[in-house]
Amino acid sequence: MVQALNILKQRFGYDSFRFQQQEIIETLIRGQDVLVLMPTGGGKSVCYQIPAIIREGTGIVISPLIALMQDQVDALEHNGIRAAFLNSTQSAEQQQQVRQQLLNNEIDLLYVAPERAMTADFLQLLQLTTISLFAIDEAHCVSQWGHDFRRDYQNLYRLHDLFPEIPRIALTATADQRTRHEIEQQLNLQQAEKFIHSFDRPNIFYQITEGQNNRQRLWNFINGSHAQDAGIVYCLSRKQVDSTASWLCAKGRNALPYHAGLDKEMRADHQRKFLQQESVIIVATIAFGMGIDKPDVRFVAHMNLPKNIESYYQETGRAGRDGLPANAWLAYGLQDVITLRQMAQDSDANEDHKRNVHHKLEAMLGLCEQTRCRRQTILNYFDEVMEKPCGHCDNCVTPPPTWDATEASRMALSCIYRTGQRFGVNYLIDVLLGKPHERIIQNNHDKVSTYGIGTLLSNAEWHSIYRQLIALGYIISDAESYGALKLAPQCKPLLKGDESLQLRQYTKQETVKKTSSTKSRSSVRVADQPLFNALRTYRKDLAEKLGVPPFVILHDKTLQDICRHRPDNHAQMATISGIGAKKLDMYGADILGLIAQHPIDNALDNGLSDTVNETIKLFREGIAIPQIARQRELTESSVYHHLCAAIAEDIVTAQEVVELDQSSIDDIIYTIELSTEDSGFSMKTVFEALEGAYDYNTLNCVKASLRE
Ligand SMILES: [Zn+2]
Repeated sequence: MVQALNILKQRFGYDSFRFQQQEIIETLIRGQDVLVLMPTGGGKSVCYQIPAIIREGTGIVISPLIALMQDQVDALEHNGIRAAFLNSTQSAEQQQQVRQQLLNNEIDLLYVAPERAMTADFLQLLQLTTISLFAIDEAHCVSQWGHDFRRDYQNLYRLHDLFPEIPRIALTATADQRTRHEIEQQLNLQQAEKFIHSFDRPNIFYQITEGQNNRQRLWNFINGSHAQDAGIVYCLSRKQVDSTASWLCAKGRNALPYHAGLDKEMRADHQRKFLQQESVIIVATIAFGMGIDKPDVRFVAHMNLPKNIESYYQETGRAGRDGLPANAWLAYGLQDVITLRQMAQDSDANEDHKRNVHHKLEAMLGLCEQTRCRRQTILNYFDEVMEKPCGHCDNCVTPPPTWDATEASRMALSCIYRTGQRFGVNYLIDVLLGKPHERIIQNNHDKVSTYGIGTLLSNAEWHSIYRQLIALGYIISDAESYGALKLAPQCKPLLKGDESLQLRQYTKQETVKKTSSTKSRSSVRVADQPLFNALRTYRKDLAEKLGVPPFVILHDKTLQDICRHRPDNHAQMATISGIGAKKLDMYGADILGLIAQHPIDNALDNGLSDTVNETIKLFREGIAIPQIARQRELTESSVYHHLCAAIAEDIVTAQEVVELDQSSIDDIIYTIELSTEDSGFSMKTVFEALEGAYDYNTLNCVKASLRE
């Protein structure tokens, strides 16, 4: 095992194994089969890469993602590991060259697609090769129920018949029991050692928001928390993808559409830009993302409700693979609930399948509407118990207020009943609000008892009530009569007054504060930002020159560690996480040079928080306080508050901030001291004693300059 650890340190630049990596590697080296279930970002590939290096021969990696092979091989070669791939993008000559390398035992890892792996030609080649192991990546593709199903995967069981001595490792990030079971069955892995990792992704902040105008809310989220970050926005339809992408572009972001309706070159081009450039947003249908191995996706936003928790988990799992803070944001509204309910009813699948789809949709809706911890619910869905609420999701941070909606729900339900269970939600709300529309009058619905009884609540609040009643199963939305709402048997006790009902309160604004990006950026202190930016530019230029994504060169986390530790020499640099021998060799000198060129700003190298330092930095650049407040979207008194902290630490002086002459300052100090002697300090007393000549901000700054 010392050998494995040495390789991890030497080649990959990490000091220790994470989670169960070590046990998995040991088991494979012993020659035993392994099945690994690990969330994305858990470090799956090291589990087979290291044994492939240690065991004699070549590790054959079967992966469905041809587009990704080049990056995977580049990344390995960057760590000094001999890797290659064989696929249809190569010329006959290139393929022949790889074959020869394989026969000469010059490759540690070879990537192939499943359709090639099982051809007679390739199997024959394998017979002539020394094989160290077979790694079957994205093993859930074997499952007929999943949306990533690949027929070729079902033939992979033959590998075991043909090469019974060679250990196999199957890996997936899909968690549900049924898929797990199918993988075992189809790939003949009943005897394999199983490693099931927790599916928690602690660095992802889950946030699910309700309401209308999704697009504006999306913008508030992206602009507020991810102004410079790469992310994925998922939409339901191609049309929505195109319009959302152009809308984001008009807002000044580099947003690229991706869906099956675009031609192949454009899709490939957009995917490449997303991988290779920084700050790109991909707007896509769910066709996008499988195997997108980009570690620094900082957010995944859903403009519509995913069909089930598996999809939601898988799609949001593309955020934050590097372990740094990331956001999963979902907007949903009444129409989502109705559309998905109808799709579940409409599908012409058999009853069994329909029930399954329906059940999964219920669970997804439950996740959206509930008021307890989101993460507990998600993990619970994957049969994992989390004892305490996570403290890192919207419901934990801002527990949603609930209210007794019994009376309002009765109104909503009886309005459906009184109007004959024939109308959609907008009509029903108009009746409740007593709108004298022609159609309502024609139908005589201005005469029903529910006409105009709902004016105490707003249109948006009624939308929220109807959505929750549908989600909770009190109301059925009928696909056959164009979305008319009907009463479900479940609503009887509520209508009869035998049951009361608590609902989430409708909230106008996003309840969640800025969380992530500000935080993810803040893992680099303000004082270190010039160096961090210089390192990013260096990496970007290099990536362009070499034609690889920036993260293949160095991860964000590595750049942050460099800023934090500012190594002085090669030996210190080697201790930085993510810098192995080869990278040290290639980039060490350049990075040391950049560190020397960007010495730390001593004034900002303090114990104050990042937000305070951000203000100090702008103030020292000579920007006026009102301008700082505007730029940072803070109140002026918050800016003064930050500057008071800076005054107390002797980073700036009170005179610099308040621009008063010395005699005025002395005046204030005198009054403050007097007031303190009298009866304990009160700024209000000082303010009044000075007859309002100086505002509170000024007084606070002077006070901050006094030694306690
Ligand atoms: Zn939580």
